[in-house]
Amino acid sequence: MNSKAKNRYFIQTFGCQMNVNDSEKVAGLLESQGYEAAETPEAADFVFLNTCAVREKATVKFQQSLVRLGRMKTGRPELRIGVGGCVAQLEGESLAKHSPQIDVLVGTHNLRSIPGLLDRVNESPGVAAIDLDRRADAFDVPDTVTAHANPVRAYVTAMEGCNLVCSFCVVPRTRGPEVNRPADEIVAEVKAVVAQGFSEVMLLGQTVNAYRSDGRDFADLLAVVDAVPGLRRLRFTTSHPSHVTERVARALRDLERVCPYLHLPVQSGSDRVLGSMRRGYTRAEYLETAALLREHVPDLALTSDVIVGYPGETPAEFDETLSLVEQVGFDGLFSFAYSPRPGTTALRLEDDVTEDEKRQRLHVLNGHQQQWQRRRLASLVGRTDEVLVETVDGHGRVSGRTPHFRIVHIDGDASLVGRYVPVEITAAGANSLQGTVSQLAH
Ligand code: SAM
Repeated sequence: MNSKAKNRYFIQTFGCQMNVNDSEKVAGLLESQGYEAAETPEAADFVFLNTCAVREKATVKFQQSLVRLGRMKTGRPELRIGVGGCVAQLEGESLAKHSPQIDVLVGTHNLRSIPGLLDRVNESPGVAAIDLDRRADAFDVPDTVTAHANPVRAYVTAMEGCNLVCSFCVVPRTRGPEVNRPADEIVAEVKAVVAQGFSEVMLLGQTVNAYRSDGRDFADLLAVVDAVPGLRRLRFTTSHPSHVTERVARALRDLERVCPYLHLPVQSGSDRVLGSMRRGYTRAEYLETAALLREHVPDLALTSDVIVGYPGETPAEFDETLSLVEQVGFDGLFSFAYSPRPGTTALRLEDDVTEDEKRQRLHVLNGHQQQWQRRRLASLVGRTDEVLVETVDGHGRVSGRTPHFRIVHIDGDASLVGRYVPVEITAAGANSLQGTVSQLAH
């Protein structure tokens, strides 16, 4: 064992699945250097904050954690604090300058540097070790290193960054332009995770269905990944409506392992707002895309993201969002109050919808959505679905997901985790189902 064998790390992750996957890579890199996971920041020698800049709220939570860690470090100067992710990339070196408790600062492409930077800090304590080089290869963390946090679902990055120009979104600034990973590398990683025992894979990318590499489009990528022996479920996120082609719809219909589930952010139901957001589609086009998908996969579960209170959004325009949400009938909806972000083009527009009004619109939207979800989930009672068990809820209960990504709670114990079980749905709430195992599969 080397001298680092006793070192323990703790990672706090903010934001999206990309960040969760990045944290899994950091955990794996640290473990490959002899670090062990700690249960709490107090028990750790190195705490890494993996930040999100998409909304102000996430950055405020990060700042609060950083302040708490700073206080902890006053009593424990040997504690090492690392910061990475989108806020780190956005704020750059000034973040370390204003927060002297930071020892290690890395951008979104520099996870691989963390162990070396930690060594550097240990040699020269008090001087922050920084790597924010955006030209670095974001995919250079070896496949086998990632410490997957979910026991059954492995995230595999297909592409990084984003070439879109949505007026509200900070991601192109934090993660840079699109970089597509060669399909062979993606397939190799999927094979590696299947060999480790994962039978479900979620391909990740900011606009994953814009994937293009060596003449292969996203439908081609799905086909080659679908063919990996031993894989049973294939999902992907996040998709952009403008990149949903007939080929993608056919892949969803025809490829055996691709699950009937799609997250397709719409953001607004108003053409004026969609135009100002520079989303690249109209309300009618989004509806056509949803119809195309359902024509190919009639029982497709569709989920979405919505922003309320975008600059200038009138009550009538908000009503258009409500009516679109009702028209599509989403299986799940993530709704957000508009949050002005640095460097985005929407920042030039006045943030003129009051916070109260944004809250009220969120309340109305969520109320409608919850009612719809209750009705939708209630209609599933009586059917039998295949559930891949992933979590122990305690008190003799476990939960897992159906192919449509619906959460089902069932009676059972930890021995069911990782197993596919046929479950009869017996009850439904607004966000999840309950069921009983009909017969155990092998
Ligand atoms: N790349 C994806 C896309 O283009 O749809 C998702 C990116 S973002 C991580 C996830 C969601 O956060 C977005 O779909 C949007 O609804 C929301 N979001 C992004 N920027 C926002 C902002 N400035 N204010 C409020 N919500 C925002």
